[in-house]
Amino acid sequence: MYRTHTCGELTLKNQGESVRLTGWVQRVRNLGGMTFIDLRDRYGITQLAFNEEWDDSLMNEARKTGREFVIEAHGKVIERSSKNPALPTGEIEIKVSSFSVLNPSQTPPFTIEDETDGGEELRMKYRYLDIRRNPVKENLLLRSRVNLAVRQYLNQSGFIDIETPYLIKSTPEGARDFVVPSRMNEGQFYALPQSPQTFKQLLMVGGMDKYYQIVKCFRDEDLRADRQPEFTQIDCEMAFVERQDVMQTFEGMVSHLLKEFAGTESGSFPRMTYDEAMRLYGNDKPDIRFEMTFTELNTVAKNGRFKIFDEAELIVGIKAEGCANYSRKQIDALTDFVKRPQIGAGGLVWCKYNHDGSLKSSVDKFFDQEALKKWAEEFSARPGDLMLIISGSAQKSRKALSELRLHLAEELGLRDPKVFAPLWVVDFPLLEWDEESQRWHAMHHPFTSPKPEDLPLLDSEPGKVKANAYDMVLNGNEIGGGSIRIHHKELQHKMLSILGFSDEEARTQFGFLMDAFEYGAPPHGGIAFGFDRLVALIGGKESIRDFIAFPKNNAGRDLMINSPSAIDQQQLDELKLKLTI
Ligand code: ASP
Repeated sequence: MYRTHTCGELTLKNQGESVRLTGWVQRVRNLGGMTFIDLRDRYGITQLAFNEEWDDSLMNEARKTGREFVIEAHGKVIERSSKNPALPTGEIEIKVSSFSVLNPSQTPPFTIEDETDGGEELRMKYRYLDIRRNPVKENLLLRSRVNLAVRQYLNQSGFIDIETPYLIKSTPEGARDFVVPSRMNEGQFYALPQSPQTFKQLLMVGGMDKYYQIVKCFRDEDLRADRQPEFTQIDCEMAFVERQDVMQTFEGMVSHLLKEFAGTESGSFPRMTYDEAMRLYGNDKPDIRFEMTFTELNTVAKNGRFKIFDEAELIVGIKAEGCANYSRKQIDALTDFVKRPQIGAGGLVWCKYNHDGSLKSSVDKFFDQEALKKWAEEFSARPGDLMLIISGSAQKSRKALSELRLHLAEELGLRDPKVFAPLWVVDFPLLEWDEESQRWHAMHHPFTSPKPEDLPLLDSEPGKVKANAYDMVLNGNEIGGGSIRIHHKELQHKMLSILGFSDEEARTQFGFLMDAFEYGAPPHGGIAFGFDRLVALIGGKESIRDFIAFPKNNAGRDLMINSPSAIDQQQLDELKLKLTI
């Protein structure tokens, strides 16, 4: 037996017991005639004590160990003279009677401490060392606990876990597929699933009624910061449901998780239409931890004198409460922020509501006090507030102002990761017009059902049709999205044809699904949550990388195993693949 206890469990209650511990050397401290080793494992740290008076040579052996050596120690639990109240094991130590080095360690390339000196790339290369650090370890433990809680919740609600295949056929969900060549079927390829979407729908046709899976999904996208080519979803589907049923079930699940892991009572989640979200926040995933909603000024700010406003499709602004004292420099910084190419605003108009009741703006030349007063009224501004205004095309202005809103809120400390503000966004447009391909694209995916009342518009004004879809948003992140699905062959076929599929293409790509709809497909709907992001948010972090045991970097590379990598000529030959590079 290697060990009788872990390094996290011994206390004064165990005093006098003879124990055996194993773990990694966190630190060796030599103090005159004494040596202490902090022995670490997943469960905690226990102090091993050596004393030249007890055993001189044993102490000398202990001094030869170093950071990250794996050792096994045998000894007695004794009360410590200088206690450490910060550690659960801080009242005891082990008076070591024998120990052995199970495996020595080279000096690690970065310190295995909560605050490390290792850069991101180095930590990824030696991920197994990074995982020994508390912050990463804690994240992985949290992930496991949340995973279990999700399973318990869904299990209690009658969901069953069913695995779906990873080697499938391309499904169009907006991203590029990762493909896998088939050796046995020359010239043919599997695709890795972007999600199990069609399979979960077929499980409903198969009568499974309530399905879930915590499942890997794969999308070959250009990796924006904090996206992973493979990621995990909590994927769910239910039969005989309307939108309300799905939303209720999963609001329940997320409330349960927030209560259990963040101690937050969320109450019932607010619901906002897509149009409202865009109008008030310029964003379909609004961060509602703070207000700062948009105010539109079209009716009060077009006066025939300020051309930029007169010609704008939209004049829209936010009110920064109590920020009228912002300096020139601070406002310039905000202006520079919105003018960055990624944000894309032409400029920023500001108006201060001074404490003496006067108004001062960057466009005083064109607007007198009376005009500015009207603006202030629209904003419901009070003395001390700062109004920030962007104008131009509606879409661009909203997007830029949304970025400014988040940026400013960050500066003002309004985005507290310990505060959780979930909501639903509903009534998305079913379709989006893509200028480049001159085609309609499904905003969610091609299996999403239109809202029944909008069906008549599908032929005449497809752009006006709303989807029977819903997104769950948490602190400015879309954490889940789903919809009621199409379950009639004709409608599915029509949808595909609106999306530009020929009859032939629809048949080859989705014949299996449309066939299934002809054998008694129940009405059904579902949702999928981004599990990595959900855990990261619950853990109070924005970045998902440290909640994944072995993540990839921004170039989609695993720096530890160095992949992707070339394969042997023999493998290529077997697959009948010829490289042209
Ligand atoms: N399959 C969808 C997605 O991955 C989610 C859903 O509609 O259930 O976004």
